Amino acid sequence: MPELPEVETVRRGLQPVMEGQRIASVETRRHNLRFPFQKDFVGRLEGQTIVGMGRRAKLLMAELSSGDVLLMHLGMSGSFRVVKHAAATSPGHFHHERSADRAHDHVVFHMASGAIVTFNDPRRFGYMKIVPHSELEAESFLRGLGPEPLSNSFDAAVLAAGCAGKKTSLKAALLDQRVVAGLGNIYVCEALFRAHLSPKRQASTLALRSGAPSDHARRLVDAIHTVLNLAIEAGGSSLRDHRQTTGELGYFQHSFRVYDREDEKCPTKGCKGTIKRFTQNGRSTFWCPTCQK
Ligand code: ZN
Repeated sequence: MPELPEVETVRRGLQPVMEGQRIASVETRRHNLRFPFQKDFVGRLEGQTIVGMGRRAKLLMAELSSGDVLLMHLGMSGSFRVVKHAAATSPGHFHHERSADRAHDHVVFHMASGAIVTFNDPRRFGYMKIVPHSELEAESFLRGLGPEPLSNSFDAAVLAAGCAGKKTSLKAALLDQRVVAGLGNIYVCEALFRAHLSPKRQASTLALRSGAPSDHARRLVDAIHTVLNLAIEAGGSSLRDHRQTTGELGYFQHSFRVYDREDEKCPTKGCKGTIKRFTQNGRSTFWCPTCQK
């Protein structure tokens, strides 16, 4: 499932072909993704210029010249494919596409520039929805979202305030989208590992009795910044590679330190521990019980 860094990578990949560009036409090849398309979906897109390509948590937000915003969520398996100049694409390129892949091409944006942007989603947990900019705050997928982890509005004080008094585990608190928006299982495991904090630790320990952030909160915010920025950098390099090949956006190779590394030696310098896995709130937690306290 794409997490925040993948979605940010997709945003950066779409930006050069979509931002500032007019949408000439749109094809929807079925009546729904996770939800049915709105009846006026195509009509509200065609002829509009995309004035900004933004992101909030894992939601891509294309701001249209009409004042509408196109919300796009990748779901479990969604990805975009970009062909910059349709006229320049030789039919030979299509030999590289498996027919099964094309069957999952559900939405095609034809840009006035000649670029073609295709949304492919085998499992169809993704969705697209158009909402007026003025109604964004009321949108259920955006309502109540906490701060963006890479924005200036997220720091140790904000995280400590979000966790103060919480009896839940630190891992559960970080997955709570009201505390911080867009973090998923993988990057929570990685951030807790880098901060040397146990996923089982009580969330309230990030705040001192006074409500001020503890050192743990500072360490954790630093670790969250680091894991997300490293993944976004990795995505950026995959973007440069992909541009030269398939134009596919959405997935890239990460190097995780603990995630999916059960029974491997802990990579912390001087630690003799082993990476363990257990189930927490229905998800796999990977951690080192020796150096995460
Ligand atoms: Zn360790």
